Amino acid sequence: MNTRVRQLFRSFLLWELLKGLQVTGRHLFARKITVQYPEEKTPKSPRFRGLHALRRYPNGEERCIACKLCEAVCPAAAITIESEEREDGTRRTTRYDIDLFKCIYCGFCEEACPVDSIVETHIHEFHFENRGENIITKEQLLAIGDQYEAEIAAARSADAPYR
Ligand code: SF4
Ligand code: SF4
Repeated sequence: MNTRVRQLFRSFLLWELLKGLQVTGRHLFARKITVQYPEEKTPKSPRFRGLHALRRYPNGEERCIACKLCEAVCPAAAITIESEEREDGTRRTTRYDIDLFKCIYCGFCEEACPVDSIVETHIHEFHFENRGENIITKEQLLAIGDQYEAEIAAARSADAPYR
């Protein structure tokens, strides 16, 4: 049978349509793999790097000593730090901004930090509604650190997986 006749025969029998319906039928009764986000969530790696936070010591003192290593190591130039010396002779930041539009969540900043101050949390559900909200400030970063300190500390404990 030549090709043209075979094609004509197939069109007449709606062969392509039947083939399509066969695929539909196969998936109609198969186990559903669609995740009903946000009610359902897929597992997240313990090494996931999400929204940043600045941590404090248990006495409330901020950990950051304004060494600017994180700013220097950031490949996206997303961190902006300004600092000054306090009355007690220690140095602290007066400005610590991260541009979340520039950030590529590489984790270099937390790797570089000598006092475990800047960290990346497991938070991935955040959004911006207004221009400029992509710049996250020191106050916001400290507030995130305060709120999630227990989780952050547990993720960095000696027995945490993939520490
Ligand atoms: S995660 Fe990477 S890109 Fe983002 S602020 Fe830290 S060093 Fe920069
Ligand atoms: S967050 Fe860490 S690396 Fe960055 S300036 Fe502060 S102490 Fe230095």
